[in-house]
Amino acid sequence: QKQDLPLHKVIMVGSGGVGKSALTLQYMYGDFVEEYDPTKADSYRKKVTLDGQDCQIDILDTAGQEEYAADFREQISRVLDDDSVPFILVGNKADLANSYRKVTKDEAAAKAAEWGCPYIETSAKTRLNVDEVYTELMRKIRARKETQ
Ligand code: GDP
Ligand code: MG
Repeated sequence: QKQDLPLHKVIMVGSGGVGKSALTLQYMYGDFVEEYDPTKADSYRKKVTLDGQDCQIDILDTAGQEEYAADFREQISRVLDDDSVPFILVGNKADLANSYRKVTKDEAAAKAAEWGCPYIETSAKTRLNVDEVYTELMRKIRARKETQ
């Protein structure tokens, strides 16, 4: 039964307009939603197979934040009083030309190294690395549950 399956909870955080909703919807439905209400937060759940194991992913797509990802990283660790929360730093809109870049690959990689998390560049538009991000996060979440 679906509700008995292991449930892995993911939260999307980051500044407004970076593509949190587009990534979530691309992963959930395989579509690029170009205009999604920037003030709307919603949660999504679906059954997935992770390395041959049936489980559920729950994605909370947050809205309305204008802060920096670095602040979220710290807030989450502080609120949970736990530095072992699995994170992935995502650089989205990789389909756009390099001249649109706000953060260099080196800067992002340095931040990820500081946080001890992976850095993955994605495109919600072309689906580049979208499945990879969620799959990798679920693996990390599952591994962490196994040690607790
Ligand atoms: P959110 O505020 O973080 O949820 O951002 P949205 O998902 O609403 O995306 C903000 C804008 O960026 C929208 O116009 C999207 O169509 C666009 N967008 C999101 N992801 C991508 C992407 O991977 N490539 C491109 N070119 N545009 C994107
Ligand atoms: Mg959004």
